[in-house]
Amino acid sequence: TLPEGASAAERALRRWAADAEAAHGDLTRLDRVAGDGDFGDNLRGGLRRVVVRLDGTGEGGPAGRSGAEALAAAAEVFLDEVGGTSGPLVGLLLAELAAAAERAGGASAPGDGGWGEGLVAGLAAVQRVGGAEPGDRTMVDALAPAAGSVADGGSLAQVAAAAADGARRTADVRARRGRAAYLGDRVVGSPDPGAVAVAMLLRAALAAADD
Ligand code: ADP
Ligand code: MG
Ligand code: MG
Repeated sequence: TLPEGASAAERALRRWAADAEAAHGDLTRLDRVAGDGDFGDNLRGGLRRVVVRLDGTGEGGPAGRSGAEALAAAAEVFLDEVGGTSGPLVGLLLAELAAAAERAGGASAPGDGGWGEGLVAGLAAVQRVGGAEPGDRTMVDALAPAAGSVADGGSLAQVAAAAADGARRTADVRARRGRAAYLGDRVVGSPDPGAVAVAMLLRAALAAADD
């Protein structure tokens, strides 16, 4: 249920939260193949907290806050409260999306310039902190093609499709970094859950732009 008057960015976050509920089992299974099986819990738990926070009275209500403010609240939740490798990295991505939306005037909708800039800055932040390169089987494998599509002037639909393609391709590569690094061929055929989750965010943003 999407509250009346919510910004497109907030609708995207709420859609992502609903999608993470539905995908919890799949994301858990994917993280069991190449990791410790907690990614579904980490993402769903973080997004549940985000929705609780957005539903609370803290920030003026859905109609009273900008997309940038909703994204900043979500970033804070992931940075401060969500564990795993993914929690802080997703927090960094959301913080860059928030900062770019703020620079774009606060009301930036998915598909506006703010989102593209935020993805490019988010990729840089995730790589700066996490040190992963494309091909390492991480969320970078969804973010990098998305940022590349932004640089090519891609529409939000094209950016989201690039992220989904990138996530799918993680099933084809050998892991070289993180917990997946020593699993080798075992992970072939199974996409990286963090990359899948980033693709889900962009699909949610695309859907929210049409709400
Ligand atoms: P943990 O491995 O600590 O249990 P999670 O299960 O929460 O972490 O998150 C796993 C996801 O984090 C992976 O699927 C991958 O997409 C992402 N990830 C792991 N290491 C990195 C990294 N160095 N850079 C970017 N993303 C990473
Ligand atoms: Mg894990
Ligand atoms: Mg873990």
